[in-house]
Amino acid sequence: MSEEQILAGTLYIVPTPIGNLDDITLRAIKILSGVDLIAAEDTRTSKILLDHFSIHKPLVSFFSQNESLRVPQLLEKLKEGKSLAIISDAGTPGISDPAYSIITTAIQENIRVIALPGPTAFIPALVASGLPTRSFVFEGFLPNKKGRHTKLLELKNESRTIILYESPHRILKTLQELQEVFGDRDAVVAREISKKFEEIIRGTLSSLHSTFSSRSIKGEYVIIVAGVEK
Ligand code: SAM
Repeated sequence: MSEEQILAGTLYIVPTPIGNLDDITLRAIKILSGVDLIAAEDTRTSKILLDHFSIHKPLVSFFSQNESLRVPQLLEKLKEGKSLAIISDAGTPGISDPAYSIITTAIQENIRVIALPGPTAFIPALVASGLPTRSFVFEGFLPNKKGRHTKLLELKNESRTIILYESPHRILKTLQELQEVFGDRDAVVAREISKKFEEIIRGTLSSLHSTFSSRSIKGEYVIIVAGVEK
């Protein structure tokens, strides 16, 4: 393994597994073992992961509701020369997870930000989908209510492959609305990526809707929709 010194006063953004714990990178383990402090979205969830890799470092919580309070506190630590790693419950912090505010503030304050490559749900979902990867747009979660229809209308004429995150209790509704607004199109649902019940279901928006209407819906989902043909 290569040597990597942990840099003082540096903010590390560290991706963690989205399912299979073996997806953690050697570098992520090294950085998490070496930093002074780890800020985690849910400290109980992250403690299980960190214990698994025998990483025992001071942990503080960092989630959307305490972000505005935490950012100045954590920035103070960085300015004192402490090294800090941000992790989320799963995947890459800053991708549909907290981290954006601390990253932008750190940049404004001339604090070094290092983002490690690593697990995130949408890249394997896109790659396995078989839909065009040459250009794509990642939208994360659609708005729940306000702005939802406007966002769908905005995406209707998008020619790049569209990637969405969705929760199990809204997947049917979203597939239905996508079909209503976009018309029937090629689409793929990737569920439980890197977990025991991983599935990549390829079809059209209508066929996926009927597939999911007839089964119990559990797990985590990425929806990939073909862009409009120009
Ligand atoms: N930061 C994460 C990342 O880098 O992908 C995303 C966090 S976001 C709060 C959680 C959403 O990511 C889930 O609702 C689901 O849409 C997607 N997701 C996370 N893990 C997944 C998995 N193993 N399989 C499919 N989708 C997943």
